Amino acid sequence: MRRVVILGSTGSIGTQALDVIRRHPDRYRVVGLAAGRNAEMLEAQARELGVPADRARLGADGPEALAELAALPDADVVLNAIVGFAGLPATLAALEHGKRLALANKESLVAGGPVVARARARGGGEIVPVDSEHSAVHQALRGGRRTEVRRIVLTASGGPFRGRSREELHHVTVADALAHPTWNMGAKITIDSSTLMNKGLEVIEARELFEVDLDRIEVVVHPQSVVHGMVEFSDGATLAQLSMPDMRLPIGLALAAPERLDEPFGPVDWSEVGTLTFEPPDLDAFPCLGLAYEAGRAGGAAPAVLNGANEVAVAAFLEGRIPWTGIAEVVAEALQGGAGNVDDVSDVLEADRVARERARKAVERRSAA
Ligand code: NDP
Repeated sequence: MRRVVILGSTGSIGTQALDVIRRHPDRYRVVGLAAGRNAEMLEAQARELGVPADRARLGADGPEALAELAALPDADVVLNAIVGFAGLPATLAALEHGKRLALANKESLVAGGPVVARARARGGGEIVPVDSEHSAVHQALRGGRRTEVRRIVLTASGGPFRGRSREELHHVTVADALAHPTWNMGAKITIDSSTLMNKGLEVIEARELFEVDLDRIEVVVHPQSVVHGMVEFSDGATLAQLSMPDMRLPIGLALAAPERLDEPFGPVDWSEVGTLTFEPPDLDAFPCLGLAYEAGRAGGAAPAVLNGANEVAVAAFLEGRIPWTGIAEVVAEALQGGAGNVDDVSDVLEADRVARERARKAVERRSAA
């Protein structure tokens, strides 16, 4: 019986994780829950699952409350499905206390890469990715030695605006950007998918997870979202993981690994799947992907600046304060201000704070114009 803490239990990943767990009551027991503001749903989940009230916490309880849940002595697995930088304290606490961290909250790993690596080394915790692309790579890596890996390829659906030129993207609306063609996800990641920032964050996430140089991590657009990720080995062989889009598969694997659940989520029906296509990303129309590579190569606190500025820019776009094309402009402006080194977690928090300040100013200038 694995005892699981679910942080972000009211969201898209959180509710799908609970769906997986409900189907396997013999394997999993939920011992802690957290959400941002949705107290009603959180309470209902806690009641149903028998989680004590002091183990069902809200964002308003503060970052320490999340870290406490992630460090619970009777927890084996912590699923971090919080959205955004707010997930960092829980990521660090889970790893420092030697837990398995089932990580959906990519923002904490992207922004806090060096401090997360240290927490993992110090506490002996383990990260198992929930992101479908990284779950695919995690699986494909079993096919060879680490020294034999030549290239990691992450697939991107291309989002709702695939094929549009830079000029055509000037007037897209919030509703257009939220209409993802293949995945049904929370608002922030859906916007990140439309700008390809999500893929940019994933490139940095892959570097942190698999310790592979950024220049050996590539992105290919694959609109059908059936091939999730690939690893090319030294002899030219590429191993890929395929399944229909269903996040319950990577969530289930992150909970059960190294075992697999005996229930299929998203098996491929070859008579339905038709043609699988692959094309290079358009870096001119989707500059966020290039910005992420730039921040990843700069290292230090630059990924934290990228992430913090992006969170502010996405929120401003969702509130109708800047156009969709303004997201990349705001992030670029924040990155131009530079970034320092990361020695400890205070450097990450400071980089995030500065990034948000720069981004807010950039948003204000645009909304005043
Ligand atoms: P949602 O917006 O659907 O859910 C976010 C969850 O985080 C909600 O439970 C929300 O609570 C909670 N939350 C927000 N702020 C806080 C806070 N300060 N403290 C505690 N909880 C908080 O997002 P998704 O489920 O789509 O995404 C979650 C993470 O998983 C993101 O990092 C995303 O990039 C990643 N991911 C998501 C995928 C997907 O298919 N959805 C795929 C791959 C990765 P409340 O409901 O109360 O607001």
